[in-house]
Amino acid sequence: MRPSIENASYWLATRPDHHPAPRLDGNRNVDIAIIGAGFTGLWAAHFLKQLEPQLDVVVLEQGITGYGGSGRNAGQVSSGIDHTHKLAIAHFGVDEARRMSRVGLQNIEELQQFIRERGIDCDFERSGQLAVALTPAQVTEVHDLVAAAEQLRVAGVRFLSQEETRTELNSPLYLGGVADPGWGIVNPVKLVDGLQRDAERLGVDFFEQTRVRTLEHVSGKIHVQTPAGTVSADKVVLATDVYTHQLFPQLLRRYIPLYDYILVSDPLTVGQLAAIGWRNRQAVVDFRTFFNYYRLTADNRILWGTSEARYYPPNRVEVACDHSEPHYTALRESFRRHFPQLADLDFPYAWGGPIASTTRLTPFFGTLKRGRVLYGLGYTGLGVANSRLVGKILAHMALARPSELLDLEMVQRQPLPYPPEPLRRLAVNAVTVSLRRVDAGGKPGMLLRILDALGIGFSS
Ligand SMILES: Cc1cc2nc3c(=O)[nH]c(=O)nc-3n(C[C@H](O)[C@H](O)[C@H](O)COP(=O)(O)OP(=O)(O)OC[C@H]3O[C@@H](n4cnc5c(N)ncnc54)[C@H](O)[C@@H]3O)c2cc1C
Repeated sequence: MRPSIENASYWLATRPDHHPAPRLDGNRNVDIAIIGAGFTGLWAAHFLKQLEPQLDVVVLEQGITGYGGSGRNAGQVSSGIDHTHKLAIAHFGVDEARRMSRVGLQNIEELQQFIRERGIDCDFERSGQLAVALTPAQVTEVHDLVAAAEQLRVAGVRFLSQEETRTELNSPLYLGGVADPGWGIVNPVKLVDGLQRDAERLGVDFFEQTRVRTLEHVSGKIHVQTPAGTVSADKVVLATDVYTHQLFPQLLRRYIPLYDYILVSDPLTVGQLAAIGWRNRQAVVDFRTFFNYYRLTADNRILWGTSEARYYPPNRVEVACDHSEPHYTALRESFRRHFPQLADLDFPYAWGGPIASTTRLTPFFGTLKRGRVLYGLGYTGLGVANSRLVGKILAHMALARPSELLDLEMVQRQPLPYPPEPLRRLAVNAVTVSLRRVDAGGKPGMLLRILDALGIGFSS
């Protein structure tokens, strides 16, 4: 029997003291209620108080703060909004992709400055990203990616030969790579805790173990119903990401819940670390669609994750999906293929978490209940940095304040929809089979070529 997520996720299990806020008991009347205490809810609270310090804001969380993706991720901090510069161009065109890359870079700079100024101890390191090619076709992609970065005028992205790549991190599988100095790594739960403390200092009230059951529009207010109390709010910010359909099933048109899985090893000895290099401690990904992502923790454990995400029909997001033994076995095997030098390394931590995937791999926004309920979600596995932008956008939307962020096409336009069940599971299966073939070095078949032509492809 695997442990609950609070003890399975390395970040949550090793969390420095967290004393959960009380459950909501009774009724409250507030300006803004935020549902969900992950990165999005915490950043929304931060920006709301920054824009209007007197605002009465509460955050309602069904579990503990950081219970969702924010407490389960790999802690890779992106400097771009889309997964790659090439995908940003495919999804949004060159001009918009250029704007997005500028906004993304500024976002991580501001995030770093915030952490420094507030003295948040969250093991943030601006160590850059290393994207590695594992097949000859992926080496071509490496060149395409560098060209896309140049087209968007993103500085510092450079091609690495096979030898240069293996000097950074010594895997016999690497054929080449790309270095992007923009990215970073962080302990996500320590960042969550730092954000919560900061919001509390600004006067935001938190209620944990408080599941929102329903939202009702009653005479110009939204009544947020929880098991032991109601919050009556002028506006509600849904910061519930992949759980959002449990409150508003209609939003499932725009995303699909998938589960990603991760292992974390024992700390590496000096000798083990020397055997693989990794002196520059980059966040690493490879060029497959179902890629591995990995990084070192502050105490030199290897976090080894896979985006070989699993769909549990029909759109299940629940505790029963938090572990997957087949994924853990496949992760251990893929690790040994990458690093035979460390074949004996043990991985005492293993867990999974849900992501909300959209057809354009980037978040979407909107309102419900006559504009009083706002949402922004769908990070498709890239929300650690992007949640700061989404929180800022939601705060501006809630207070009807101007911001250049509101003009982003990602905010203005929703992604193409996914089919409903039972077609959804059939589509997921068909696309998964095709993508696996490409990841193994094959050519994209008709299905993937059609998706690419529709602008909802995955070719990175
Ligand atoms: C395994 C994994 C690896 C990842 N790796 C990375 C990475 O390396 N880099 C990266 O950028 N992104 C990564 N991500 C994605 C990233 O973690 C998410 O995009 C991000 O955390 C989303 O933050 P959020 O606050 O919107 O959602 P969440 O953190 O999921 O927060 C939503 C919260 O809402 C609460 N909630 C839901 N419904 C209710 C309700 N009815 N009442 C009260 N509360 C409710 C939930 O309990 C939850 O705490 C990863 C995700 C996973 C799962």
